[in-house]
Amino acid sequence: MHHRQVPVASRLSEVRYEIRGELARRALELEQQGRAIVKLNIGNPGLFDFEAPPHLRAALAANLPHSDPYCHQQGMAAGREAIAMREIARGAPNASPKSIFIGNGVSELIDISLRGLLNPGEEVLVPSPDYPLWTAAVILNGGRAVHYPCLPERGFLPDPEDLEARITPRTRAIVVINPNNPTGAVYPKELLQAIADIASRHRLVLMADEIYDGITYDGARFHPLAPLAPDAVCVTFSGLSKVHRACGWRIGWMSLSGPLKRAQDYLHALDLLSALRLCANVTAQWAIEPALYGPDTISPLVAAGGRLHAARQAVIEGVAASQFLSLVAPAGALYAFPGVDTTLLPGFDDHRFALDLLETEDVLLVPGSSFNVPYRTHFRLTLLPQAKQIEDVFVRLERALERASRS
Ligand code: PLP
Repeated sequence: MHHRQVPVASRLSEVRYEIRGELARRALELEQQGRAIVKLNIGNPGLFDFEAPPHLRAALAANLPHSDPYCHQQGMAAGREAIAMREIARGAPNASPKSIFIGNGVSELIDISLRGLLNPGEEVLVPSPDYPLWTAAVILNGGRAVHYPCLPERGFLPDPEDLEARITPRTRAIVVINPNNPTGAVYPKELLQAIADIASRHRLVLMADEIYDGITYDGARFHPLAPLAPDAVCVTFSGLSKVHRACGWRIGWMSLSGPLKRAQDYLHALDLLSALRLCANVTAQWAIEPALYGPDTISPLVAAGGRLHAARQAVIEGVAASQFLSLVAPAGALYAFPGVDTTLLPGFDDHRFALDLLETEDVLLVPGSSFNVPYRTHFRLTLLPQAKQIEDVFVRLERALERASRS
């Protein structure tokens, strides 16, 4: 019998999020059959024995009795003050608790920030590769994502001239993801300055996704965008999910800075949209102040000898030992984005390979084309497993690549 489907919203036809897509569903099926799948697809620290720092857990537990009511739609005062103090200390112009919004993860705030900005057909400059929520959220909010390439041969950094050439009268904002997911690129200060200047010249909003702001390796330095952009409205996003390994608590924030007199209507729009969803998880907001002003728990993990540093090293060595792979070593964040040599693997297809690797070697990666790039030669893996497990993954990877080169 023919079952007529409930028609779904047509705007979804362009929306993709393959990090939790078809391959992840297949991995779940294989697990249900008893296979042990190494899941390197999601940057979920909790899946790899990372825990939120004890002082953050203690803050939640101690404040559970004070967490029953809804709070203000922009977030609790204590959390917003802590975030504002940090933004001001970093030099973000005009940052204040009044222009900070705490959300259920940065994910929710990405959606709200674009919903409050975009009219139908307006354009947002999004990096390629990107964290695919950015492209999806632009489309879902009626906009058009215009991708600016960040090419491997340029260390996955954008070319500011190329970026500026993509601006049209419909462009409203530039998204900058730094440190970058999926490539691990950390943007030099001069490049950020050039992007900030472009935004100022064209009166565009800067969307600075800095959720990996404490995660850099081997002396790479993170520079926040907001202090470099005194003349552009800048929305800086960060949260507890990565640096503080508490992604299940669903706490993120965005802070507006720059010429906020020009952003009064936008601030009202963001306040209204925040009010419509009432507020962010109250219990977990108690962790914001201790996260920002308590002990630094991320530096020991990323410094030489630390667990994330060792994992990154294992990826670099695994690629160096491979016949088929090349890599721009990640300078930050929680991922590596290696590519294959197409002279050895002509016709390589990232998606087909990822499926084959899953079926034959029990390893789940994300095909590079899921991150809105036009090529199908790369894939992303997370740096969250122990170095030993990554070494083992590279043995399996090489075996699968060798098979692909013979087929
Ligand atoms: N932005 C980037 C670049 C990310 O990688 C992620 C999660 O992986 C998010 C935003 C969303 O994080 P959350 O919603 O947990 O704050």
